[in-house]
Amino acid sequence: MSKQPFCQTKAYRNLAEDEITELTEEQAREQFTLFRWGSTTEMPCPACGSVDQHYHRRSRHQWRCKHCYTDFSVTTGTPFLNRKLPFKKILHLIYDFIASPKGCAADEYHAKRGVTLRAAYLNFHKIREALFEMRDQTPLSGLVQVDGGHFCGKPRRPRQRKQVTSGIVNNKLRNRKASMIPGGQTPTMEPWNREKYINRRIAIVLRQCGKKGEGANRTIVAIAMNENAESVIPLVRKYVVPGSTVWTDDGHAYKRLSAWYDHDSVTHSKEYSTDKGVNNNQAESYFSRLRRAEYGIYHGMRCQYFAFYANEYVWRADMNKKTLGEKYADAMEKIFKCGPSKSWRGYGGGHRLGFEYMG
Ligand SMILES: [Zn+2]
Repeated sequence: MSKQPFCQTKAYRNLAEDEITELTEEQAREQFTLFRWGSTTEMPCPACGSVDQHYHRRSRHQWRCKHCYTDFSVTTGTPFLNRKLPFKKILHLIYDFIASPKGCAADEYHAKRGVTLRAAYLNFHKIREALFEMRDQTPLSGLVQVDGGHFCGKPRRPRQRKQVTSGIVNNKLRNRKASMIPGGQTPTMEPWNREKYINRRIAIVLRQCGKKGEGANRTIVAIAMNENAESVIPLVRKYVVPGSTVWTDDGHAYKRLSAWYDHDSVTHSKEYSTDKGVNNNQAESYFSRLRRAEYGIYHGMRCQYFAFYANEYVWRADMNKKTLGEKYADAMEKIFKCGPSKSWRGYGGGHRLGFEYMG
């Protein structure tokens, strides 16, 4: 019998949904307070930073700072600032997000939690943004696998179906990656459809591998417009310690890496792993999950928020040896450390981020 994956063991299931369902709203608020400050009586003032037993304005669920007299609540300075949902529903949504192994579509959870689709969408995105803001970008070392995957900006099929021969299919497959350049020219496609490639983004994933057979232990993802040497090499140099071993596929973008790294490549048109064992399978495994999320869970990702989605799957991949309780605590810690949401605060009032996270 093969070894049981950790996410199917009893040790993994150390936090059940019932534990949140059984909370009263008051207890849910208390849990929020404890996750944020580790205490319900003594906390730092978000305005001046002084730690004290501030005046508790019990009926308003607020505190007044003993030093600068600023009023604050447990959500002041967090992504859930000005929240309208009850604490218990927010805790439920956070639990849904961390406990779903493949991703968490707002569409699936809004009715289940009795909130609007927009509330579920915004709150899931706030969690995603917090994980993104607090991601660990310390450079990777040892053995690192690097690869690029193409996402977003999917053109539609033409109205009329052309006669398909094996030659056309082979040609398409061969030219697929080369033709998917955002804003680039793709022959045999109508101009309105070609424009959809403007939304195409490239996820460059870098995965640090542990001992043989243990898979990757840390992952960094960066977003680029092209998979060419100009975009890829600065990213690899930024995120990988010089002198490390880097494994890639035989793409042109990676050819010059041997100037800084012990670089080996695998020719994917011939083999998935060379005789020496050089492969890119950890990077491919990350893309496999992100690809299934794009098609099967989210049914598309907008390129403005692609960095958040890509990083969500970095978090899921890197936390795959952690228990549910540890995942919940880790997400809570990141939510409370990242400050108010930059992308989603005021979203209902028309506020938008106005730029994309790249690199
Ligand atoms: Zn203060």
